[in-house]
Amino acid sequence: MKKTMPVDGKFELMNLPYPPDALEPVISADTLGFHHGKHLAAYVNNLNAALPGSGLEGMPLEEVVLNAKGGVLNNAGQILNHNLYFSQFRAPKADNAPTGRLAEAIDAEFGSFEAFKEAFAKAGATLFGSGWAWLSVDLTGKLVITQEPNASNPIRAGLCPLLTMDVWEHAYYLDYQNRRPDHLAALWQIIDWDVVAERYEIGLASC
Ligand code: MN
Repeated sequence: MKKTMPVDGKFELMNLPYPPDALEPVISADTLGFHHGKHLAAYVNNLNAALPGSGLEGMPLEEVVLNAKGGVLNNAGQILNHNLYFSQFRAPKADNAPTGRLAEAIDAEFGSFEAFKEAFAKAGATLFGSGWAWLSVDLTGKLVITQEPNASNPIRAGLCPLLTMDVWEHAYYLDYQNRRPDHLAALWQIIDWDVVAERYEIGLASC
């Protein structure tokens, strides 16, 4: 994985790699504004306030997530989760699908891209309460889908995260209210598979 370093002892709120309305109508500018500008910003501020004296100062974010406990872990985990989440999207595209080695690995592991999407959406829809559905690659190069509660990230289980869907209500309630499965089904239109494929290649080499 790429490492996220603190600057002068503080982690920074990531910049979105697209304009606030770029993901509409799948994710509205309003949802994106609250999700990135309020929720993620609060996790960043909370972590920066909690780091001094924790013994984790100066570490990359990924190392903080591996070594922290309690509130520091929750806030660091949410920053890592959201950084991966927000940087994996692009404007909606019809027939959006992976290509190349990642597409071949998905077909080999799950049978087809359609079967993979079904299994992934099920993981997101059936996760009780707040959390995240993930596609990761393990140490042997095998693709795995996991459900992670609350702020958990697959790196704590030795996995290299590739793709995620945030199923906290703040991710979809303004646009979809209680219809979490509808939100998850729409997200396939905006996945930037080039980003996911790059994470896969890096993960195969070093996770
Ligand atoms: Mn979120």
